[in-house]
Amino acid sequence: MKAYVREAINRLQAESREPFCAYLYDLGGIRAHVRGMRRYMPERTGLFYAIKANPDRRIIEALLPLIDGFEVASAGELLKVREVSGSVPVLFGGPGKKEAELEAAIRHNVSYIHVESLLELRRLIRLTQGRSEPVRILLRMNLRTSALPQTHITMGGRPTPFGLDEELLDEAIAVIREEGRGAVRLCGFHFHSLSNNLRAELHAEMIELYLRKAEEWMERYRLDIEIVNAGGGFGVPYDDAPPFDWALFTSLIARSEARKRLARVQLWFEPGRFLVANHGYYAAEVIDIKPSHDRYFAVLRGGTHHNRLPASWGHNHPFAVLPAERWAYPFARPEIRRGKVTLVGELCTPKDRLHADAEVELLRVGDIVVFEKSGAYCWTISHHDFLGHPHPKFYYLAEGNDHATHANMDN
Ligand SMILES: *Cc1c(COP(=O)(O)O)cnc(C)c1O
Repeated sequence: MKAYVREAINRLQAESREPFCAYLYDLGGIRAHVRGMRRYMPERTGLFYAIKANPDRRIIEALLPLIDGFEVASAGELLKVREVSGSVPVLFGGPGKKEAELEAAIRHNVSYIHVESLLELRRLIRLTQGRSEPVRILLRMNLRTSALPQTHITMGGRPTPFGLDEELLDEAIAVIREEGRGAVRLCGFHFHSLSNNLRAELHAEMIELYLRKAEEWMERYRLDIEIVNAGGGFGVPYDDAPPFDWALFTSLIARSEARKRLARVQLWFEPGRFLVANHGYYAAEVIDIKPSHDRYFAVLRGGTHHNRLPASWGHNHPFAVLPAERWAYPFARPEIRRGKVTLVGELCTPKDRLHADAEVELLRVGDIVVFEKSGAYCWTISHHDFLGHPHPKFYYLAEGNDHATHANMDN
């Protein structure tokens, strides 16, 4: 953990009267990371942020000047982006778009709608009949291939509710040409087949496959497309695996043969996790430590109702211990020295577990456990009100200063 993050948490805990429980987002860290990513990106590529990974307004604001736009998957997410910028490009996706959402997308001037089914296509065409400008769409495709990398979460290359089965493309093109003339314009294809892929070579190969497919379809249907959106899915390791090699990935993309042939096509990426995961911290104070049947448990002020990712994926979430000296009682302070401990939350369910059998040097009641890599899919996927405990506080580290400001109490 970076020293300034450690210092900020120590200082905030010292100021806190209640047992400490907070998310800390390092906005400067996110911005430096994304600036670094952009330096490697070849020409004719674009970078969007899929806000479902973390829709915190401060993160959207921090990313706004650094990226090409945002990907949203509901009217609610769309409004979150539009509250920050009325004009930034937005891509609108999602498998269950309601008519009101499609209308909101058009009203709020999204750049492209990712169409995910034949019925959705027909609904959209009906809605947009008679407009002066056609609505620009990308078709989200689910490929019939077994050649995609296997990860924890896959949305393509197998039966899923996402996107349009490749075998339905004939029909979709016919609908666009016959019923959708003047109402929608097919501007390209969208793929988002997996999440948390750590292997840069396989990711580049997958995108080469996307590009070859797009090329094949352009020829078969005589299409003139401008965009291939290759989705997100760039991974972040939650164990000792090596991180996704962005420099290698972008160098492979720069050399892609299919991309050279598609000389007028933009290749876009819309990561969520990869932009923000490493710059979020979930810090929870140890409330109790107790032995049970030859094991030790540390109970935290917090848990999976704030950070559901480890329970959702069944993994042990990486953490660091921040020692705190404060101890207000006359009796002994429970501790574990050089031993194994399972970190659990304050909920009355055995599912409330963040890390099983962790080796610790020293962990005492009152210390803080800081779960690293908690910037993506942690707070936002959690069941915040289960059992009615107070929400964590939210703090933000701005660029070039280690001063934590306190905001977003309504989270
Ligand atoms: C969730 C999602 C993303 C972001 O995925 P990550 O794995 O966080 O990069 C991008 N595109 C679509 C369509 C998504 O549903």
